Amino acid sequence: MADNQNAAQVYKGIGVGRGAVAGPVVRANPAPVAPADAPPPQNLDAAATQLTDALAAVSHELQQRSEQATGTLAAVLGAAAEIAADPELADQAVEKVQGGTDPAVAITAVCKDFADMFLAAGGYMAERVTDLNSVRDRVVARLLGLPEPGVPGLKKPSIIVAQDLSPADTGALDLRNVLGIVLEQGGPTSHTAIIAGQLGLPCIVRVPGAAFLKDDDEVALDAARGTVTVNPDADTLAAVAGRQKALEALTEDKSDGATSDGHKIQLLANIGTAEDAERLTNEAVEGVGLFRTEVLFLDAQTAPTEKDQTAVYERTLNALGDRKVVIRTIDAGADKPLAFATQPNEENPALGIRAYRLNRIMPELLDTQLKAIAAAAKQSGHEPWVMAPMIATVTEAKDFAEAAHADGIQKAGVMIEIPSAAIKAKEILEQVDFVSIGSNDLAQYTQAADRLSGDLADLLDMWQPGTLFLVNRTAEAGLATGKPVGVCGESAADPLMALALTGMGITSLSMAPKAVPAVRFALANHTFAECQEIAKAALSADTAAEGRAAALALVKPEVREALVLEK
Ligand code: PEP
Ligand code: MG
Repeated sequence: MADNQNAAQVYKGIGVGRGAVAGPVVRANPAPVAPADAPPPQNLDAAATQLTDALAAVSHELQQRSEQATGTLAAVLGAAAEIAADPELADQAVEKVQGGTDPAVAITAVCKDFADMFLAAGGYMAERVTDLNSVRDRVVARLLGLPEPGVPGLKKPSIIVAQDLSPADTGALDLRNVLGIVLEQGGPTSHTAIIAGQLGLPCIVRVPGAAFLKDDDEVALDAARGTVTVNPDADTLAAVAGRQKALEALTEDKSDGATSDGHKIQLLANIGTAEDAERLTNEAVEGVGLFRTEVLFLDAQTAPTEKDQTAVYERTLNALGDRKVVIRTIDAGADKPLAFATQPNEENPALGIRAYRLNRIMPELLDTQLKAIAAAAKQSGHEPWVMAPMIATVTEAKDFAEAAHADGIQKAGVMIEIPSAAIKAKEILEQVDFVSIGSNDLAQYTQAADRLSGDLADLLDMWQPGTLFLVNRTAEAGLATGKPVGVCGESAADPLMALALTGMGITSLSMAPKAVPAVRFALANHTFAECQEIAKAALSADTAAEGRAAALALVKPEVREALVLEK
C-alpha cells in the first residue's frame, strides 16, 4: 500500500477496453468454505441458536435488498430470501447441530441434500439451486465471521474490486451503480472480462495490488493504460474526464466501417442476451457478429426448451430489424460452465467434450437449438446466420452445415478457434457459408495457454507470431474462396489489431458495442493499402512485442494519440 495514505499509488494490470473512470471501491468477497474438520460445538443449544439467527439475518437482509432492487435482480433476491426462511431447511440443519455437527458444516450438508433434491425434481425447482447456494454462502460467512460473499448491494456508483468474479456474479451486477471492475486475478479473455466489456464497463484484470484496496478507497481506472490509481490527484481526475469526453466524441460518427479509401469492413456487436440486443437500438453497429447463447443459460440447471429459446431468439431478431445477426450455438464447458451440459470429472475440460462436441453425447441440445432458431427466423421474418463453436475438422463443419441447412437455416458457418481448423480453413470454407475466428480460443489452443490464466497473458497476446500466422491463413482462405471471414474474439476490439486484421482480408469485426467507435475511427484514418502494410509488418515480426511495435510505427500519429495506443 502507499507509504503515505494520501499519496497517489498506481497499480498495473491488464486493461479491457479504452475507458477511464473514477470512484469509490466496493469489495466483492469470495464464497467461504465450511472447514470439514471443524470440531463439534461445545454448547449444542447455543450453536443451534447461532445457526437459526444466521438464517434469519440472511433472509431479512436479502428481503431488504430485494425491496430496493428492480426487475430480475429483485426477483432473484426475493427467491433467495424465501429459501433462507424455509423452516424445513432450518429444522434439518439444527437437527445436525444437536447431533454434534459444527453449524457451518451442518448448513453446508443440508443445502447439498436440498440441492440434490431440487435437481432431481428438475424444471423450476432445479433453477433454485443457484439461490440455495447463495443462501448457504451467506449463512456460512456469518457463522465464520467472514465478510458477506459476492458483490454487496451498491448504494452509490462504485468500482467493484474482487479476487475474481464468476460469470454469473458479473451478469447479476446491479448496473445502475457499477462504474468499473478491478480483478486481482482473471485474464483479459476470461468470460468476466468479456462480460464487463460487453456492459461497457472499464475493467482491469491481473492487478495483484488490488488485494490492498479497501471499501471506500477512491481510485481511478484507466483501461487503455491498464492502471489503477489510488487517491487520484486533480491531474489524474482531469485525464479521466478528458478520456470520457474524447471517447464520447468518437461516438458521433455513425457511418459504416470502412477504410479512408472506402474498403468496407463490417463493424458488429457481440451480445449475450436479448436485452443486449435491445440496447443496440441506438448503437451505430451494423448488426451482431456473435450472440453467445450460452450466456442465456449460465444459471439454468436443466437444458432450455425449444419454446423458451425461440422466444429469446425472436426477441433478439426483432430488436435488430434488418441488421445482420450471427447466432452461435451453445458453447458450454471449460470457461463457460453450464450445469446441464458440463461434463463431470474431465481431466482437461478445455480439451474435453464441450461446445459442438456435446453433440456426441447429447445431440438433442443442438437439435433443439437449431429448431428454436429456425422457428424464430420464421416468426420474425429475419434470417440469422448460425455458427457452431469449437469445430476441429472439415467433417464436423460439413455435418453442422448440413444439419443447420436441413432445419431451414440459410447461412451456416463455424468458428475457427482450434488450430486444426485454421490449418484446414480453405477446406472448411468449401463446406460452409462463412467462418468467424474466435481469437480468444485460437490464442489459447495455439499457444497451449489457459485463457483464464493471467500468468500466461504474454503467450495469449494476439500479436504472437504463431497465432497471427493462423489468423492470416484463415483470412487467405476467405480471399481464395470468396466467403466472409470475421473475427469475433477480443482482438477485434483492439483498434491497432483491427487495422492489421483488415489488411489481412478479414471482412467483419465483432466486439463489445462500446469498443466500436474507436475501431471505426482507426479504420477511417487509414487506407486499405496502409492496413495491408500494417498486417505485413506484424506478420514478419519474430516476437509479439516486435509485431505490435512494427504495426504501431505505421499508424497515423493522431490516431495513436487519440486512442492511447502506446502502452
Ligand atoms: C473466442 O474464443 O474468441 C470467442 C469469440 O468465443 P468465446 O470467447 O465465447 O469463447
Ligand atoms: Mg471461443
